[in-house]
Amino acid sequence: MQNQGVKQDIRSVNLDELKDFLVENGEKAFRAKQVYEWLWKKNAHSFEAMKNLSKKTRDLLETHFRIQHLEVDHFQKSEDGTTKIAFRLEDGGLVEGVLIPAEKRVTACVSSQQGCKFGCRFCATGTLGFTRNLTAGEIYDQIFEIKRRAEEEFDSTLSNIVYMGMGEPLENYENVMHSIERVSADNGLMMAPRRITVSTVGLPHMIKRMADDEVRFNVALSLHSAKNEARDEIMPVNKAYDLEDLIDAIKYFNEKTGTRVTFEYLLMDKVNDSLSDARALAEFCKNFPCKVNLIEYNPNEHAPYQRSSAERRDAFLKFLEQRNMVVNLRRSRGKDIAAACGQLANKDKK
Ligand code: SF4
Repeated sequence: MQNQGVKQDIRSVNLDELKDFLVENGEKAFRAKQVYEWLWKKNAHSFEAMKNLSKKTRDLLETHFRIQHLEVDHFQKSEDGTTKIAFRLEDGGLVEGVLIPAEKRVTACVSSQQGCKFGCRFCATGTLGFTRNLTAGEIYDQIFEIKRRAEEEFDSTLSNIVYMGMGEPLENYENVMHSIERVSADNGLMMAPRRITVSTVGLPHMIKRMADDEVRFNVALSLHSAKNEARDEIMPVNKAYDLEDLIDAIKYFNEKTGTRVTFEYLLMDKVNDSLSDARALAEFCKNFPCKVNLIEYNPNEHAPYQRSSAERRDAFLKFLEQRNMVVNLRRSRGKDIAAACGQLANKDKK
């Protein structure tokens, strides 16, 4: 299994492969489970730490593999308790994860890619461009560290995980799925899939793939406008996959999984917050059972947009509520440290 030059990351090897490797090298098959538990449940960063393995087994692993993991580079704490953590990748780059304590919930928001190629105009991450996909282990490490902090600081375990940090999770499908499998596994973090939300910019073919894979986690879709013209403007991806494509894919997803999708809708002043925009959103939502999260926009230096006034926001919300839609207004958290939605851009390092 060893590559020439760089050793293989052991967390890219599944349990059966690890078992085969150990048996081929004269070890007992049950050792694979022990190693797996160290790698995931205990999040060991070295083979040295695997104390219930013999020196011989540890040396064998050391010779053939490495453990590719993230290190905390620095972190910032917001006045509201939100913590943004910058993680250093093995190859030098930075990605960000956020710990968000709110009411009775403690949520981890994690990145799935270093940068992003979609260039949504309101989003600071979009200005970074795309560097690479994160491995399942790198995604898992963010969650593990945020969980550790939640327990230390708030005496509470994580209640939710959202894949809403840097990047488009569905463009890194295999690794995101692998990380979710590990997060929910008994020898992982034992988080129920229903506590996990994967957020997408809206890629119809991948939404259908999730439906075919019968995923059990929640799906959130960054909608931000239910008018093609306006969505084209703020989210260039809409030119490739428009609202009609999304309706088709979401109907398919809903029929196959029985899960309703959540639409994320950032309210931006005079961009998507008129009553005509609210009407378009209500019409769009008639196509399937769904939920809408209205989110207060956080202006950032990369984008020309402003937050909606309280008046426009309330009128928009009222319009939807009068139509008996399931709608929540989400206040942004961690604004003072640029940890809020659409603000992750390694700002202090640029
Ligand atoms: Fe990428 Fe999401 Fe930002 Fe769009 S909103 S640029 S998909 S990170």
